[in-house]
Amino acid sequence: MAVTPQNATPAAAADALQREQSVAKHLFFGDILEENLFPFPQIRAKDRENLGAIVDAIDEFLGSKKKEIVEYDRKGEQPAEYIQALREMGLFGLIIGEEYGGLGLSNGAYARVLAQSSSHDSATSVTVGAHSSIGLKGLILFGTAAQKQQYLPKLASGEMIAAFCLTESGAGSDAASVKTHAKKQPDGSWLLNGEKIWISNGGIAGFYTVFARTEGEGGKMTAFIVEAAWPGVSHGHHEDKLGIRGSNTTTVAFNDVRVPAEALLGEEGKGFKVAMAILNNGRTGLGGGAVGGMKALIKLATQQAKDRKQFGKPIAEFGLVREKIAQMTIDCFVAESAVWMLAHYIDNDVEDYSIEAAMSKVFASEAIQRACYESLQIAAGNGFMKEFPYERYTRDSRILSIFEGTNEILRLYVALSGLKDVGASLSGLRNAVASIFNDPIKGFGVLSGYASRRARQTSGWGTDKILTQLSPDLQKAAKIYEKSVVELANASDALLKKYGKGVTDQQHQLKRLGDIAIDLYVGLCALSRAASLEKADKVNGAQAASIAYVFAKQARRRIARNVRGIGVNEDARIESVAGMIVDVGKYPWDVL
Ligand SMILES: Cc1cc2nc3c(=O)[nH]c(=O)nc-3n(C[C@H](O)[C@H](O)[C@H](O)COP(=O)(O)OP(=O)(O)OC[C@H]3O[C@@H](n4cnc5c(N)ncnc54)[C@H](O)[C@@H]3O)c2cc1C
Repeated sequence: MAVTPQNATPAAAADALQREQSVAKHLFFGDILEENLFPFPQIRAKDRENLGAIVDAIDEFLGSKKKEIVEYDRKGEQPAEYIQALREMGLFGLIIGEEYGGLGLSNGAYARVLAQSSSHDSATSVTVGAHSSIGLKGLILFGTAAQKQQYLPKLASGEMIAAFCLTESGAGSDAASVKTHAKKQPDGSWLLNGEKIWISNGGIAGFYTVFARTEGEGGKMTAFIVEAAWPGVSHGHHEDKLGIRGSNTTTVAFNDVRVPAEALLGEEGKGFKVAMAILNNGRTGLGGGAVGGMKALIKLATQQAKDRKQFGKPIAEFGLVREKIAQMTIDCFVAESAVWMLAHYIDNDVEDYSIEAAMSKVFASEAIQRACYESLQIAAGNGFMKEFPYERYTRDSRILSIFEGTNEILRLYVALSGLKDVGASLSGLRNAVASIFNDPIKGFGVLSGYASRRARQTSGWGTDKILTQLSPDLQKAAKIYEKSVVELANASDALLKKYGKGVTDQQHQLKRLGDIAIDLYVGLCALSRAASLEKADKVNGAQAASIAYVFAKQARRRIARNVRGIGVNEDARIESVAGMIVDVGKYPWDVL
């Protein structure tokens, strides 16, 4: 029986999953993979039990530290006793298995915890998140039993805090170009040299996951576990930053550090894969944090709008203020849906969720920045004052589109990963056509696959299973995605045919494609969630459906603009303006 919003149980979403398939990749083929989208996943019973207590404890503790958090932001430092309190609350053991003394939370529950801490203070979430999402994640994903036994208990208690050391002065987005290197010694150990920059928790960590170039295999990157206490390891001063100021950020240097053979993490030469797996797996933490921040902003701005009277009434009664409150809510609902759908994929062993992870990160990180702008605008003068938290949220959220992969790189990643499979199918088709007389069976397989894709592109999705069971609002939203996904597939085909492999250099076009795919993915997650809520939540369910409908309409307008832009655009002129300014190095006009 097909699983639908109507017959969903908590386990139904996991039962339906096609683990070897990616929703995002299907989108580029004009296909909506219903099995991996419906029904919307529900939180596991065990997580629900744990979460209640943790969320309350976070509210109680961070709620009581309001003044101190402002102080840490001003001074740019979380004092040792604050970190100690986080330890005592168990916040460093969130994702570490119970057998090592941790709480063993799922990815979804972990994201929910970071949402709660971020609703009070993003810098605290970065301290906790840099430890779990990226600092020790490599050990969980790739560590040997002995490595886990050695380190996880200390990491769970927070006796050791973890950090992730990838970025260098010459290697930011181009992470594969790291210069830090490790030379194998005759006894099998390694000699590590180099310097990492902007490392979150760099100055308070005892455990570093370090990426270094190793000899052999063409000097590929390898991941290592390095302890801060080992001779030759040092860190710089705490950087003075725009936002998340309390979170510790330093350089970390390695000077002839002797790294034992047993400290190699994963396989030699496979460090880039390790780094990407960590970042992909960790993205729910960042997304959850963004959602928590948005919820706090919506609450603050709503209170402000109700309290503040102008022209004889609360500003909450003015359409332009109400529009901001509604849009923040829509953005938050969509981001939350996308992040928890991603957590569901990770928790249920979907093989490749890297595109969905990138999409959720881009959407959530930009949604919270829009929410910061609009909530500060509602508070207006008050919003500009340090006495109120809007300016801190604004500064704190800015980092989210920079670290763990910039949003530019992630948009390109989304588009290029989607195109890769379409490209493979098209070139498969070309080869098949060329050799069809020599190898008709092979040729037939490829052609029929292509034909069925084409058929799906025109026949739509789910009309028999999901679509007919949705409310009219959600049916309309579904129709919008049904139409738009075909346009994404057609646009992908067209770009590949026009540019071939050269499409990788067409960044303006790739951005359009990435944005279409992001709108589709996050919108479908919201549609799925609204479909479940409509049934389960009689009070707010209809509003959830309305939100999913409004987002679909907004997404449709953006998608239509992007599709048009792929055919007709000013890219050449934009390139030309940029070229001129880059050449002269400044804005060349003045009215003088
Ligand atoms: C507060 C903070 C904490 C951090 N924590 C950590 C940490 O714990 N561990 C760690 O390893 N790193 C950390 N980082 C580093 C962070 O991940 C990098 O800043 C990020 O990867 C971007 O690198 P970059 O700043 O060198 O920017 P660059 O790579 O120099 O990029 C500059 C700009 O160019 C764009 N760009 C670059 N290449 C392309 C391209 N091919 N196409 C289009 N646009 C492009 C970028 O999107 C960006 O807008 C942290 C950074 C900060 C600020």
